[in-house]
Parts: sequence; structure tokens; C-alpha cells
Amino acid sequence: MGILEVKDVNKRFGGLQALGDVNLSIRENACHAIIGPNGAGKSTLLNCLVGKLIPDTGSVMFDGQSVLGRKPFEINQMGISRVFQTPEIFGDLTVMENMMIPIFAQRDGAFEMNAITSVLSQKDVIERAEQVLEDMNMSDKRHMHSAALSRGDKRRLEIGMCLSQNPRLLLLDEPTAGMARADTNNTIDLLKQIKEERDITIAIIEHDMHVVFSLADRITVLAQGTPLVEDDPQNIRGNPKVREAYLGE
Ligand code: ADP
Ligand code: MG
Repeated sequence: MGILEVKDVNKRFGGLQALGDVNLSIRENACHAIIGPNGAGKSTLLNCLVGKLIPDTGSVMFDGQSVLGRKPFEINQMGISRVFQTPEIFGDLTVMENMMIPIFAQRDGAFEMNAITSVLSQKDVIERAEQVLEDMNMSDKRHMHSAALSRGDKRRLEIGMCLSQNPRLLLLDEPTAGMARADTNNTIDLLKQIKEERDITIAIIEHDMHVVFSLADRITVLAQGTPLVEDDPQNIRGNPKVREAYLGE
């Protein structure tokens, strides 16, 4: 049994079958990559795992408990944190302020922007945020306006914001999309470090094969809403079906 078990999940948007009979099992402490062409249903699948979308049929179990029917913040409290495809930080706030938001949001289930000042005074939240900033190697940037961070550092901050919640499962949707090579390599190194240092399972949607093969222990190829193949990275590279459907060879 994996820490995450997806069984027979279907999701339609009107006439479009975005997910068709998706089965997926993610092993605890693995780094599991989900790859596939644009429109394959990767983000839709991720959204079904975090309560942003509700599958039409099927089940999603996290650590033996169903996530279906739960609100996103409840799923977050179960131990799933997620990095979005587009940056989701508050540019007007400092790095440190951004780092405190998810800790507060997870604990209280929801938050209001005007409550941030009250969070600032909470010692435990500050200590946890500072610790993650240190882990992220960003302590020197704690007072910076987040909008002024480089693209790579914005991603680093977002990943840190997820880690501040101490998740058991970290979900990443194309974390290196639009990044220059140097930032991509920094992100790879950061995720490798997280894998090594933390007791955490990672599921990553990724286009960049260099990222996938640098990090993944296991790969699922999604095509037109259905898993085409799931295997170890070395077998994915050599699989003719995958080369044809995805790698474009
Ligand atoms: P991927 O992340 O693999 O690129 P998506 O999961 O975003 O793919 O999309 C899968 C399919 O579902 C696409 O055809 C997309 O246009 C469609 N789709 C995604 N979200 C919605 C939505 N909210 N409403 C209608 N169609 C959607
Ligand atoms: Mg997507």
C-alpha cells in the first residue's frame, strides 16, 4: 500500500474526459514523477488530490483515509502540501511574512490577510519560519520584499512555505517551468536536499526530462487522461511506447 492510493478516478469537464480510470500508487518516501504532454490531465489529477477538484468517480486515499469530500484545508491538515504551477507568493510581503502564512493557515484552517500582524507576534510560528528559511538558505533575505526575489528564489520560497507545514506528501506542479537553466539546477539541488534530509514523499509533475531523471525514483506517464505506463526511470527511458507518445521519438 502506498501513502497515496488513487483508484479508478474519472473527471469530466462537460464533454471532455480530462481523467479516465486513473490508478496511481505512490510509495512512502519516494519521489514519484508524473509526466505527459500538455493537456494530459496532470494538473487536473493534482487538483483532485488536494480537494480543489472533486473526481466524478473513484477514490483517493492518503495514509488510509479518504480525501474525497474534504475541504482543501482539511486535506492540507492531513499532511499534503502543494506548490502551484504559477507562483503563489505575496509580493508585497517580506520573505519572512510569506513564510509564516502557511503555518498559520494550516493551524487555523483559514486565514485573513489582516490577521498577519497578530501572527507576527507568535513566537512558535516565527521560530518555525526562521528554521525553514535557514534550511532553504534564505535567512539573509528574510526582510526582502518577495516581489524583488529572482524567479528561482521565489520558487525556493514557495517550496519552503510548503515545508513549513511539515507535510508528509509534497506535491509540485512543474516547479521549474519558465526557469533559466541555473535556477532549474538550483531547484533540483534543493529538492534532492529535501529528499535526503526529510521524511517526506514527493510527487512532481514535470516537463523537463533533466529534472525528472535527476529526481524521480518512479515515473507515471499520463496520456489523454490515462496512465500509459508506470515504471522505474531506467525503464521509462527505454520504453518504446513512451518514446513514441511523449518523448517524441
Ligand atoms: P496538463 O496539466 O497535463 O497540461 P490539465 O489537467 O491542465 O493538463 O488539463 C487536462 C484537460 O482538461 C485539458 O484539455 C484542459 O483544457 C482541460 N481542463 C482543465 N481544467 C479545466 C477546467 N477547469 N474546465 C474545463 N476544461 C479543463
Ligand atoms: Mg498542468
